Amino acid sequence: MILLIVQSANKKSSNNLDKWIIVTKEAKLLQEKVYDIAIIGGGVNGCGVARDAAGRGLSVLLLEKNDLASGTSSASSKMVHGGLRYLEQYEFMLVAKALKEREVLLSIAPHIISPLRLVLPHHKALRPKWMIRIGLFLYDTLGGRKLLDPSHQIDLRKDVVGKVLKPEFTHGFEYSDCKVDDARLVVLNAVDARQHGADIKTRCELKQGFREKDHWRLQAKDVISGQENEYKARILVNAAGPWVSEVVSDRIMLDTTSDVRLVKGSHIVVPKLFDHDRAYIFQNADNRVIFAIPFQKEFTLIGTTDVDMTGNPGGADVSKDEVDYLCNAANEYFTKAIKPDDVIWEFAGIRPLFDDGEDAASEITRDYVLELLDEQGAPPMLSVFGGKITTYRKLAETVFDELKQWLPNLKPSWTAKSPLPGGDFLPDDLEKQITGLQRDFPFLAPETARRVFEAYGTNTRQMLGGCKTQEDMGICFGTDLYQREVEYLIDREWAISVEDIIWRRSKTGLFMSAKEIAALENWLKSRNALNL
Ligand SMILES: Cc1cc2nc3c(=O)[nH]c(=O)nc-3n(C[C@H](O)[C@H](O)[C@H](O)COP(=O)(O)OP(=O)(O)OC[C@H]3O[C@@H](n4cnc5c(N)ncnc54)[C@H](O)[C@@H]3O)c2cc1C
Repeated sequence: MILLIVQSANKKSSNNLDKWIIVTKEAKLLQEKVYDIAIIGGGVNGCGVARDAAGRGLSVLLLEKNDLASGTSSASSKMVHGGLRYLEQYEFMLVAKALKEREVLLSIAPHIISPLRLVLPHHKALRPKWMIRIGLFLYDTLGGRKLLDPSHQIDLRKDVVGKVLKPEFTHGFEYSDCKVDDARLVVLNAVDARQHGADIKTRCELKQGFREKDHWRLQAKDVISGQENEYKARILVNAAGPWVSEVVSDRIMLDTTSDVRLVKGSHIVVPKLFDHDRAYIFQNADNRVIFAIPFQKEFTLIGTTDVDMTGNPGGADVSKDEVDYLCNAANEYFTKAIKPDDVIWEFAGIRPLFDDGEDAASEITRDYVLELLDEQGAPPMLSVFGGKITTYRKLAETVFDELKQWLPNLKPSWTAKSPLPGGDFLPDDLEKQITGLQRDFPFLAPETARRVFEAYGTNTRQMLGGCKTQEDMGICFGTDLYQREVEYLIDREWAISVEDIIWRRSKTGLFMSAKEIAALENWLKSRNALNL
C-alpha cells in the first residue's frame, strides 16, 4: 500500500461557489446532522469502509449512485486470492497481504467464500517447471496458510482433471485459493454497516461536494425520485472505483496528483467444460493467465482480459475481440473447443488501477493506493485507487490508520474476527449447516437449500420466515426463485430492479427464460405502483 499526501486548491473555486449557491438554494437541507464520515461508492471498498467505520462507533453515510456492487465489484473473477502471477512482478507485499486475507475472509464469510483448488497445467513452451515450483513454494508460505491445503504436483495422465485437457499436457501443479460471491460480499458488508448504524443510500448520486470550514457539504440526488438533498460530514472517503478521479475533478472540483488507469477485464460463461470442482489457471503466450472456474453448478466461467480503456467507465461492454481471445486461450488447453456462439452470459468490469506509469495494462500494480488530501484548516478527503476484492477489509483498516488523527475516539479495528451477516459458523461446518436447513425446511429441494444457504448463510432461516410449505414461498418466478426471497432482497438488501435480484443478489438469471424475467419485471412494477 502506498499513501500519498497531497494539498490541493479548489480548481474552479469561484465557479464552484456560484454554482454551489444556486444548487444550495434548490437543494433541500434534509438534516443538520454532521456525519463523522461520508463514503462515496457502494462497491466492496466503500461498503468495507462503511462497515469498519460503523463498528468503530462512527456515524456513517454511504452514497451509491446505482445499486450496491453495480460497478467493478460484481464483475471480478470471483476469487479471494493472492495472485500467483503478481509474484513475477515482484509484488511480494501485495501477494503476502492478500494470501493472509484469504483465510481471514474465509473465516468471517464461510457461506459466500469457499476453498478452491486450482490446476496449473505445465506448458512446455512457457514458464519452466522450476520457476513454477519456486512460485508455489512462496505462495504456500508467504501468507501463513493454516486452513487451506498446500500445493503439489499432479500427473495429468492419471488425475481426472487431465481428462478434459489436450494430451500434450501431462504434468501440472495444484494449489489453493478461494472463490467468492463478489456482489454478495459487498451487500453483506452494507447490511452489517447498517446493523451498526450506518445510513446506506443507494440510487443516490453525489453531484457536488464543497469544503466548508470543518466539514464537507455534499449535494446528492436520488436518481429515482429526482429529489436533491444535502448532507454534511467531517471526513470524505472517495471509494468511487473507476470514477475516483471523476469524483475529485468534477464533483469536488479539486486538482489531483494521482490518476486512475482504467483497465477493462471481461469474462464469458459457457456450459460446463468439466465435471469436477477444481478450477484451471492457463498460461498464455502473451505472458497473461486466464482462469476457467466451475460456476453455478452448470457452467464454466472463463476470464479475464486486460484492455486499456478511456471514456465513461459506465459503458464497458465485452468486445468481440475479447470473446475470441478467451475462446482461443481456452481452446489451447481443453480438448472440447468452444466458440463465441457457446457463450451464455458475459460481463465486463473496469479495474480502477493506480497509474504507476507501466506500459502494459497487465503489469500495473493491483495494490491499492490511498491519496489523502490534508490541508491545514480544511476537512480531509481520502481517495482509494486500485485494490482487490481480496484486500478490501485490510484496505478499510488502513483507511482508519490514516484518518485516526481526525478521529480521537476511534475504537480499535474489529472486522477480522467478526462474521459477516449469516457467516457465524465454521468453514468446515458448511455441509452440516446445509443438512440442518434441509431438515428444518424439508420442502426445499436439496439444490435450493444449498443455493440459498450459500447466499444467506445462517440468515436463510430469517429469509424463509415462517414458511412451512412450498406454497408459503409465494409466486415462483422461474428456476427456484420465489416471492419470499425476492421480498427479502427488497426489504433487507436494497434490491429494486430485476438486475439487482437475478444478476447481483443471486445468479438465478442464468436459469430463467426471457418470459420469466419479463414476468418478474412486471411483478416488480406493480408492486412499486402499489407502493408496497
Ligand atoms: C475483470 C476483473 C477481475 C477481477 N478479479 C478479481 C478477483 O478475482 N479477486 C480480487 O480480489 N479482485 C479482483 N478484481 C479487482 C476488484 O474487482 C476491484 O478492485 C474492486 O471490485 C474495486 O472495488 P471498488 O469498491 O473500488 O469499485 P466499484 O466496485 O466500482 O465501486 C465504486 C462504486 O462507486 C459508485 N459511484 C461512482 N461515482 C459515484 C457518485 N458520484 N456518487 C455515488 N456513487 C458513485 C459506482 O456506482 C460504483 O458502484 C477484478 C477486477 C476486474 C475488473
